[in-house]
Amino acid sequence: MSNSSLICYTKLSPNCTKMTNKINKKITIHHMAGNCSIETCANVFQGSRKASSNYGIGSDGRIGLYVNECDRAWTSSSSANDSQAVTIEVANNSGAPNWTVSDKAYASLLNLCEDICRRNKITEINFTGDKSGNLTMHNYFANTLCPGPYLEPRFKNIAKEINKRLKNEQVQVVERDESIPVEGFYRCTKGKATQLAKNFKSTEFDCNGDNCCKETIIDVNLVKFLQNIRTHFGKSVNITNAYRCPAHNAKVANASKQSKHMYGMAADIKVKDVAPAEVAKYAESIGVLGIGLYDTDKDGHFVHIDTRPTKAFWFGHAQEYRATFGGGNETDLDTLLNRGDKGDRVRKLQQDLKELGYKLAVDGSFGAKTEEVVKQFQFDMGITKDGVVGPTTESALARALEAKREDGEYGLDDFILDVQKIIGAEPDGKAGPETLSKTITVSSKINKHHPIVVPIQKRLAAMGYTEVGDADGSAGSKFTKAVKRLQKERGKRQDGEITKGQTTWKLLLGMIK
Ligand SMILES: [Zn+2]
Ligand SMILES: [Zn+2]
Ligand SMILES: [Zn+2]
Repeated sequence: MSNSSLICYTKLSPNCTKMTNKINKKITIHHMAGNCSIETCANVFQGSRKASSNYGIGSDGRIGLYVNECDRAWTSSSSANDSQAVTIEVANNSGAPNWTVSDKAYASLLNLCEDICRRNKITEINFTGDKSGNLTMHNYFANTLCPGPYLEPRFKNIAKEINKRLKNEQVQVVERDESIPVEGFYRCTKGKATQLAKNFKSTEFDCNGDNCCKETIIDVNLVKFLQNIRTHFGKSVNITNAYRCPAHNAKVANASKQSKHMYGMAADIKVKDVAPAEVAKYAESIGVLGIGLYDTDKDGHFVHIDTRPTKAFWFGHAQEYRATFGGGNETDLDTLLNRGDKGDRVRKLQQDLKELGYKLAVDGSFGAKTEEVVKQFQFDMGITKDGVVGPTTESALARALEAKREDGEYGLDDFILDVQKIIGAEPDGKAGPETLSKTITVSSKINKHHPIVVPIQKRLAAMGYTEVGDADGSAGSKFTKAVKRLQKERGKRQDGEITKGQTTWKLLLGMIK
């Protein structure tokens, strides 16, 4: 059994059940209840939380693989479902109460579903609105909001759209959206223009050779640098040379055998009405590490920039060494961390990586294992995998940590909104007398499986009452234990019950301390 060729990223999760003869008859669509990138989602599925899915889709439309289709992912709270389903987690580009999904993610979801059907010989999607059909959702099996108020009402249309596509015999292969990068690089059909940034199309990067190649490879960061240059000068940027396939590179006079052009990492540019020396200076200031300034009549008046990870500045075809073009971005070698370094900064780095779900010891010593983990992290983030921690890796770390902390946190606002929606109070995210008056009593005896149990469980866990366990929608003994500790710590009567309109509700809703 195969996996989808639409994936841009793979990180297999240990949280799955290996199967020998799984036959995929169903598709189950979930929402992440967070705006996780496919990399963050992968890291969550590496963790001790016993969860995973076969695929994940980010708000940028990229698709990741976490569990091979031939194995059972732990996604839908039902082994009966997951052992015959391909499960998909889709990121939300807004939080409660709407939990929307981006257009790119939605388009990728349709493409992925179509592809799953074709490869698994599912000839038609039969959406029945319950678990007997072959398009299922999480809330058929557990007390959960998943797939959420945005995706759930769209299941019917998803089924309709996929069936329409499946009937069209002509389209056998789902076309990949070429504006979605694969492992940090765009891979575009030569001659077919795909918009990669506001002012740049893929065809501008095509190899200049004739009948030599079909695919143009372009580093995502190269496009970012070029767009930055275009925006800064407000002048058109003419790319004279970008991707060169190896066959064509071999024919180009003076071209290096290791030319960055062969890897889609380089572009030679002329900016309208701007002196090349100014372009080189600006490129240096924004952190471009590979810059060649060709600023004589003989050299052709252009600037070569590339996305190499360590600095190389030169002048002209003679490749004269330059320390700077005046852009003031000389990387201070003392600030870099790499193998052999020791101390608090290394310890902090290891802690950060550990928090992101990577396995390594926090010992303050940058050894082979730390280097391996740094490389894995760089690979996961789509940045140059050199095992050296400089400004790019540091900012990627900060972004990943921020995203993870946002994903993991169930804030008071989220809780109030969830509660208001469930009890039919005005969903304004502020807890006042109206909200309080509409609350209901919850305990192991009353409303034990009411939909309100899930947000209360999440709120208790976020407040530090982790003995509440998973948000499984059942107010059992763990639930009572957590409520009792909350009541005890606030000097209230420990009855383990959250009584309608009373003190424990006020505590949960943040109305009293
Ligand atoms: Zn779900
Ligand atoms: Zn070529
Ligand atoms: Zn060049």
